[in-house]
Amino acid sequence: MKTLASFLCGSWQPGHGDATILVNPATEAPLAQVHAEGYDLAGAVAFARRDGAAALAALTFAQRGELLAAFAKAIADAREELITLAIANGGNTRGDAKFDIDGASGTLSYYADLAKMLGNTHFLPDYAPVQVGRTARLVGQHVYATKPGVAVLINAFNFPAWGLAEKAATALLAGMPIIGKPATATCLVTHRVVELAAPVLPAGVLQLLCGSARSLPDLLDGRDVLAFTGSSDTAATLRSHAAVTTRGLRLCAEADSVNAAVLAPDVEVGGETWGLFLADVARDMTQKTGQKCTAIRRVLVPHDRLREVCDALGERLAAVVVGDPAHEGVRMGPVATKTQQRDVLTGIARLAESTQPVFGEAGAVTPQHVPAGKGYFVGAVLRVAPRAADCAAMHANEVFGPVATVAGYDGEAHEAAALVGRGGGSLVTSMYSDDRAWVRGYVQHGAAHNGRLYMGSEKMAAQSPGPGTALPQLLHGGPGRAGGGQELGGLRGLTTYMQCVALQGDATVIKALLEGEGAV
Ligand code: NAP
Repeated sequence: MKTLASFLCGSWQPGHGDATILVNPATEAPLAQVHAEGYDLAGAVAFARRDGAAALAALTFAQRGELLAAFAKAIADAREELITLAIANGGNTRGDAKFDIDGASGTLSYYADLAKMLGNTHFLPDYAPVQVGRTARLVGQHVYATKPGVAVLINAFNFPAWGLAEKAATALLAGMPIIGKPATATCLVTHRVVELAAPVLPAGVLQLLCGSARSLPDLLDGRDVLAFTGSSDTAATLRSHAAVTTRGLRLCAEADSVNAAVLAPDVEVGGETWGLFLADVARDMTQKTGQKCTAIRRVLVPHDRLREVCDALGERLAAVVVGDPAHEGVRMGPVATKTQQRDVLTGIARLAESTQPVFGEAGAVTPQHVPAGKGYFVGAVLRVAPRAADCAAMHANEVFGPVATVAGYDGEAHEAAALVGRGGGSLVTSMYSDDRAWVRGYVQHGAAHNGRLYMGSEKMAAQSPGPGTALPQLLHGGPGRAGGGQELGGLRGLTTYMQCVALQGDATVIKALLEGEGAV
């Protein structure tokens, strides 16, 4: 069986010791193996801090952008091959796989374009200079400067290409070399992406660890960044690590999120906004088999719309063909792992204690084109609770699969915002309304519970990608339970990998520095 090696210290290291077998989650056929141990992690960290950092420091933003463009091209040129791998190892439909692979190349290309705009400079200005002396000669200017260490990028299993690319785009443009660490179960795609991209990047700039990262934080300190996406439990473990608590390692965590969709009382059944709302909820429940951090888990609707919403969503879910995504016509594949399947079924059981069934049942699914008894399948499950205010379980549990709960509220924007807040901090909330006063009320009361607010309405419906798509232009990351991290968001995303410094001095010297003259 193929062993997926790690790309560390400039060579491919196969590792040794216990092996995890990567499988096709639709058929359980083995695909490759990964060893947990036997990698020179100390060497990799030193190689990045020395060779990788020096290579990037010698380049301006614009030149780093050329590297990102080459990285994006390496992925785009192998698009079909990567889609095939994602279908096999991730349980992705072709559409799911494109979302991941095109999202990866698209995000890198977006940052390559931003780099052109930054030009031949090294520092990112933070607002305009301010006069701090008697005359305008003496000014203060905040700038962002590259952090001197390595950026370790740990990702979850659901986006093996985009997960690496969205972090890599900002880290590399900021000037930090990276060590990517994908979730082991689905790392086939990431492994291939690095095989393709490493030859177009300078030595030490891009390394890959397929294997355990549990001892990696021991090697990190205040020079470095650890950008993590995954469960709240792992985020909590990393947050309490001595590298963070005593050595000043910067941790950017993206964790769980019980995202909500809120239907306002003005939305008419059968109208554009109604259609957008239903399409967004049904897509988010089934795209990537509900394994999207941004997927809608809670659906809040005015009490008098509960029945109509449940009926309409049930109808849409009934049309989704579940099975082996390698076959045409299948619209939803399995979840990624057996553990994931068990967790989703446990989550449904927890919701079932305080909700009623609308569509689907835990474990009741007959997947198409799959050998009997094989695969980690869970059909879509929609539950309903009469009052969102009385259903603690829907606000507390992130069921990371094709599962959502519809519940009633009284139609007031401030009540909806308070209910969404019971999720403890979300990546994204989508609201659906054509009533500007209602929208204003929601944003005033609810904005700070979220990283992003998606305002669904008649006027934007035709061009909306839906709330589940994280765009490179906009912030990805939410407060509280969602981890508190900040990724993407255009240039804002670079600041995770840079240090804010106040420069205080002669205005002309500072201006020249920012224009790139005399840059290091
Ligand atoms: P996970 O178990 O926390 O694993 C995530 C990553 O962390 C994997 O690469 C894993 O490696 C690694 N890891 C686990 N324990 C570690 C440790 N002690 N030290 C260093 N690395 C460690 O999460 P998951 O089950 O794969 O992912 C599902 C969760 O991710 C869901 O809760 C979902 O909400 C969240 N998620 C959030 C976002 C977001 O942007 N907010 C996006 C996607 C997913 P191994 O695979 O080798 O164990």
